Amino acid sequence: MKPLIAAADPGLLAALNDLVGVTQVLSGEAVGPYSHDVFSERERPLAVVIPTSVEILQAVVRLAATHRLTLTVRGGGASYTEGYLPAQLGSLMLDLRQLKRIHEVNEEDGYVTVETGVTWAALKAELDSRGLRTPFRGPFSGLVATVGGTVAQNGISVGSGRYGTAAQSVLSLDVVMEDGRLLRTGTAARGSAPFSRSYGPDFTGLFTGDCGAFGIKARVTLPLLPATPEHVGVSFAFDSFETLYRGMRTAARVGVDDTHFGLDAALLRGQLKRGRTLKDTLDIARNVFATSPSWVAGCAQLLRMGLAGERSMKAAPYLAHYIIEGADRHSVHAAVHRLRQALNGIGREIANTVPAVIRSEPFAKMFNVVGPQGERWVPVHGVLANSRVLAFQRALESFIAQRQVDMQRLGVWTGTMYETVGPGQFMHETGIYWPDELSDYHHQALSPKQLQRLPVHIQNLEARTWVVQFKKDLVALYDRFGATHFQLGKAYPYAELLDPTALDVARSINAALDPDNRLNPGALGL
Ligand SMILES: Cc1cc2nc3c(=O)[nH]c(=O)nc-3n(C[C@H](O)[C@H](O)[C@H](O)COP(=O)(O)OP(=O)(O)OC[C@H]3O[C@@H](n4cnc5c(N)ncnc54)[C@H](O)[C@@H]3O)c2cc1C
Repeated sequence: MKPLIAAADPGLLAALNDLVGVTQVLSGEAVGPYSHDVFSERERPLAVVIPTSVEILQAVVRLAATHRLTLTVRGGGASYTEGYLPAQLGSLMLDLRQLKRIHEVNEEDGYVTVETGVTWAALKAELDSRGLRTPFRGPFSGLVATVGGTVAQNGISVGSGRYGTAAQSVLSLDVVMEDGRLLRTGTAARGSAPFSRSYGPDFTGLFTGDCGAFGIKARVTLPLLPATPEHVGVSFAFDSFETLYRGMRTAARVGVDDTHFGLDAALLRGQLKRGRTLKDTLDIARNVFATSPSWVAGCAQLLRMGLAGERSMKAAPYLAHYIIEGADRHSVHAAVHRLRQALNGIGREIANTVPAVIRSEPFAKMFNVVGPQGERWVPVHGVLANSRVLAFQRALESFIAQRQVDMQRLGVWTGTMYETVGPGQFMHETGIYWPDELSDYHHQALSPKQLQRLPVHIQNLEARTWVVQFKKDLVALYDRFGATHFQLGKAYPYAELLDPTALDVARSINAALDPDNRLNPGALGL
């Protein structure tokens, strides 16, 4: 069904202003930056509404229903798969960053409920102060990425070694439906506290990874665990992709790390090229010290980093970094010992600078939205079954080799990151970098100081167009090897790849929850 309004209607704006307050409604030029994500640009929203409570959010959704407006939802906006970008004119965008209350910390029943605009960094700060943590603790973009956005598109990283994906950590959701009603999932569906996900069919799971196509997440409940203050970082170098894969697969089976990731040399060299100011270095040193289990451990770590620094890392084509955490020194050291034994003979241990920095600052500053030399950046990933990893790597090497001449001519380069997801899956993420003008998104995401330190690139439509095709071909390559994807948005295929029965069920669910397809049309290919 077409929306009735294709341009900002004064009557609608007045009604929105009445509901949420004038300062919470953006229209005209102010919505410009909302048409970009990290990589793409799509339609400008009709208006952007910034609700400050769940009740106001529900009222806005009801108003949108009466005007038959399509809706998209933006959390921290740190994604690159067109997830929150309107696919059509006349959409209302809901910016949920001011739904930022930590609603309930219930230690006895073991859960924390947050509004979905809470960032992972804010949640971590609150729980750290109480000696608590959640199992999954956020993506590396957690300084800006929200709990709602991460659950809506699923994700991995901090805490995923032991606890898996964001979606696996969720106990319960409060979902605003397309007509404004609030659906509560898990035990909350029967009016109890949201202490358990299991209560009949898994409604919670249905709304994770939906990229906002099935409902608008207003509150998320996650399990609470005691904090794990003791930690040790361990890093290994590998001489080939085969040994990296074997090492990471072995480590996944040992299963003792909290957080891990692998890198290839190109990605590492790129990161090392990033200009670091004296203040950045001092900040890292302060954080390493502050998060070390004791001042002796902090001094030892800083000394190791100073002595070994970046030298040993530069030598290896592949690296993997592990952070092992626990309640006490004994269990952490025993776990590190097991990991070292398992990787003995596969990789060689090197200085643990990278995991020490990541443990102290798990959520990267947003300068990673551009390359080390101010290039544009977009990552493309696939999660492969272990049995397909080596064949995929060979196909990828030949895919890149065939395009090498163009890449050199256009200044395009790639670097790859790896994570295991449980014992049987391997995530392979290729970051693509190319010299090009930065967009409104980057100018908002980076501070003026960060921008000043970067080389300026002029508009480069030839390289950009080439990258769009390269990215498309790369996704097709992942899919030929049966890969799945997190953060499907509007960029990865979903509906297109389902078998007829699964597609029929997906469409029926979508039709039941969103009969007029007004919630993020185009996401998931629905
Ligand atoms: C530097 C950098 C590092 C990153 N590192 C990681 C990483 O380690 N792991 C990882 O998985 N990803 C990573 N990402 C990708 C991305 O940041 C994360 O996936 C993040 O979780 C997105 O959260 P967000 O709040 O920014 O969501 P947004 O980008 O705002 O939205 C993402 C999707 O969720 C939907 N959505 C948002 N909020 C809601 C809601 N309340 N209800 C319904 N739908 C909603 C949107 O419509 C969109 O489809 C990284 C990105 C950057 C830029």
